[in-house]
Amino acid sequence: MSLKILIIEDEEKIARFIELELSYEGYSVTKAFDGRTGLELAEASEFDLILLDVMLPQMSGMEVLRRIRRTSSVPVIMLTARDSVIDKVSGLDSGANDYITKPFAIEELLARIRTALRLVKAEPSEVLSASGLLLDTSRHTVTFMDQAVELTKREFDLLHFLLKNKGLVVSRETLLENVWDYDYAGDTNVVDVYVRFLRGKIDEVFNIKLIHTVRGVGYVIKDE
Ligand code: CA
Repeated sequence: MSLKILIIEDEEKIARFIELELSYEGYSVTKAFDGRTGLELAEASEFDLILLDVMLPQMSGMEVLRRIRRTSSVPVIMLTARDSVIDKVSGLDSGANDYITKPFAIEELLARIRTALRLVKAEPSEVLSASGLLLDTSRHTVTFMDQAVELTKREFDLLHFLLKNKGLVVSRETLLENVWDYDYAGDTNVVDVYVRFLRGKIDEVFNIKLIHTVRGVGYVIKDE
């Protein structure tokens, strides 16, 4: 199977040129011409690497990166038009793996891509756990006693956020902000619905008490 690369770049000529070169190298390529569409694609399917322009319409590259990093450790190489130190520093601070200044030689980009892909493979995965449940962020799997738990992306993100904050009571508003982003302002019922989905797939199936309700406050995952 070929490695999947997402290009988020509003200059369509550049995006198409990179796509052509990467396809020739055997990568499978998806393109987005604005930040919001790029983020949606990044959240909707698994990519092995993302090339992300800094200056984008709809949503800036930095904002796209920040949101991707809430749930994913996919390698991201920033494309920046300006050779600005600020861009590089803030990009790397927000979790970019590398950056490359436009215009660049395609050989240079290919070399950076190979390096970023190698680094990720060598990186140890982050495994979060509670009450015998394991969530592996890099392999995107959830297991209990070696049994796989099949979750949708939203369920996975919700569980991931609660596990990251294990022992802390998280309010519905905080969950909405961090797991749902911008679309659901006001209606926190959706959080309760997804907590029910998770309990149905985990607590009830394995007969454990993983997600606790704190009345009037929110939810908490505790180690039992
Ligand atoms: Ca641009």
